[in-house]
Amino acid sequence: MQQYCPSLTEYKRLKTREVKIGDLLIGNSHPIRIQTMTTTDTMDTAATVAQTIRCIEAGAELVRITAPSKREAENLLQIKNELRSKGYHTPLVADIHFTPNAAEIAARIVEKVRVNPGNYIDKKKFDFIEYTDAEYAAEVNRIRDRFTPLVRICKEYGTAMRIGTNHGSLSDRIMSRYGDTPIGMVESAMEFLRIARDENYHQIVLSMKSSNPLVMVEAYRLLVETMDGEFGECYPLHLGVTEAGDGEDGRIKSAIGIGTLLEDGIGDTIRVSLTEDPELEIPVCRDIVKRYTERTSHALIEPFTEKEKTHLPYNPFEYKRRESIVINNIGGHHVPVVIADYSTDENIMPEDLEAIGYQYDEPTDKWNIKDGAADYIYTGAKEIDFALPGTLQIICDHKYWESRENKNGYYAFLQLQEYLELNNTLPTLHFIQVDANADWHQLQQLIDKVKDDNRTVLCVESSNKHAMPSVRRMLIELIQQQVNCPIVLSVSSKDKTVDEHLIHLATDTGGLLLDGFGDGVWLKNDTRQLQNAKVSGRTYLELKNNHQFLNNTAFSILQATRTRISKTEYISCPSCGRTLFDLQETTAKIRSATNHLKGVKIAIMGCIVNGPGEMADADFGYVGSGPGKITLYRGKEVVKRNVPSEIAVSELIRLLKDSEAWIEPAVMV
Ligand code: SF4
Repeated sequence: MQQYCPSLTEYKRLKTREVKIGDLLIGNSHPIRIQTMTTTDTMDTAATVAQTIRCIEAGAELVRITAPSKREAENLLQIKNELRSKGYHTPLVADIHFTPNAAEIAARIVEKVRVNPGNYIDKKKFDFIEYTDAEYAAEVNRIRDRFTPLVRICKEYGTAMRIGTNHGSLSDRIMSRYGDTPIGMVESAMEFLRIARDENYHQIVLSMKSSNPLVMVEAYRLLVETMDGEFGECYPLHLGVTEAGDGEDGRIKSAIGIGTLLEDGIGDTIRVSLTEDPELEIPVCRDIVKRYTERTSHALIEPFTEKEKTHLPYNPFEYKRRESIVINNIGGHHVPVVIADYSTDENIMPEDLEAIGYQYDEPTDKWNIKDGAADYIYTGAKEIDFALPGTLQIICDHKYWESRENKNGYYAFLQLQEYLELNNTLPTLHFIQVDANADWHQLQQLIDKVKDDNRTVLCVESSNKHAMPSVRRMLIELIQQQVNCPIVLSVSSKDKTVDEHLIHLATDTGGLLLDGFGDGVWLKNDTRQLQNAKVSGRTYLELKNNHQFLNNTAFSILQATRTRISKTEYISCPSCGRTLFDLQETTAKIRSATNHLKGVKIAIMGCIVNGPGEMADADFGYVGSGPGKITLYRGKEVVKRNVPSEIAVSELIRLLKDSEAWIEPAVMV
């Protein structure tokens, strides 16, 4: 193993144990399985069966159903029988929180049970308790006593189990000793895993979910390293980003978290949690997984030496941004910049810039600038014959740049070979396009030249099929050779559908941003295939404006990796049988009232049982607490209990105002 995966340069799946769930095999290099979870009331057999069938027909290979109490656990038998009688044999998974007795019933009925080690036995009171080692060991023994009966039932009935840790619902005991950290998440699962292994029970899959892709990725990596170190083997991993939300943001967050791990061969089954109907999650899962079906045939990436393998110049378990020099507003502690590519537009008019966050008002001759406004525009060799807003600067082709008399606000763009052939360095900021898949000797020539040039920004992309690791390999080389020029992550997508574009762009930039690499992003795509794109059931995308699509995607990626905050963040649960209101409609309502509150994190959770725990680091929470009733939170503190749902959104706005988190929406002139 190379740190936390089989290889950082060669696509290989992490070797794990094989787990059998009904007739489905997971792990040990079996295909990456895709799954979802129903949102119906488990006591409503007909609705749950109908929704399960829709999920199976969409392609789900496993379907999870919530079992909050013994009643629902027992009703799983009706649901299973009904499905089998209709010819559907897809394995079912019971989702358990807080209720060991429901788990023990479900384990005798369905093919797999999911337990959350944060609340299977422990009750969460948000208490901080100082344990001595002996007291802590006594607590773990208490868990052993309560958890072992379930393990034995699973063993007897051939039922598989997921030990599913959530960042937002760690027990008070784990929080008190390890804090709200990836180490705490790993230890929470390992305590349960050790008990299961002591019973010689191995039909186990594990997960480490969080709504923050950075925490999630670090926790999975640490779990692999810990399992391998302690047992010399790994169990299959179920990947997911919790409460990812809906639309573009939900897809982008999921692609970053899940995709980053799959790039390194980690992950045996995935679920994309969207606040949408569960069958709509399946095509997104499929789009993510299919990126890896032919990955093994990628071109060679310069391997690391044995010493380099164990001495990476960055820490994949803890975020730290790569150090870089500052040139203009790029690098150092500046937030990553966004570059918009207008080089193929026939001509550029002021109104064209609205798509990238600049709205020109002719009567006042002023620009209104949005929070998600691009920083640079690449024009190729095109003249812009109007005054640009002061925050937007131009990148143009080197030859055109040389021919201009007035170079103010214009910066040259060069291909690698063009740069290597230059006799002198350029006097101002300039951008060099580099393919990380280029000949390694040529890259070495670049490194030698850039070392003495403190005005260069490298725009790094890769033509390698294994693109993200190929760019990462080059960036590691730059750190090793102490080259600290700023880096713009440049990704081009030639996919066929909108979701494929989102997933590709988000994975290939997001994975690097999570490791601290990148001082900017430059997203490009080929829209020819998109002309006939079907965006089933979704209307969020204005296909006619690709600049806006790419700009929004860039800012959403930066937001999801928390490297540049430009908008409100929503943490909304995917909903399940416990949900007490229409989550999709409510999320849309809250979003439209609050989407101008840059940097505020609002959680919208379907139930009071799991919602408060799973809200993770949200600033405010809107949580269903009974039929027609909402409880509002500021952080973890309950501020208003059981507010009637008809006035709950206006009460949330009042709470935001009282907490000085509200500003009036800007009125565009
Ligand atoms: S928070 Fe949402 S998804 Fe989680 S149990 Fe409650 S309703 Fe279900």
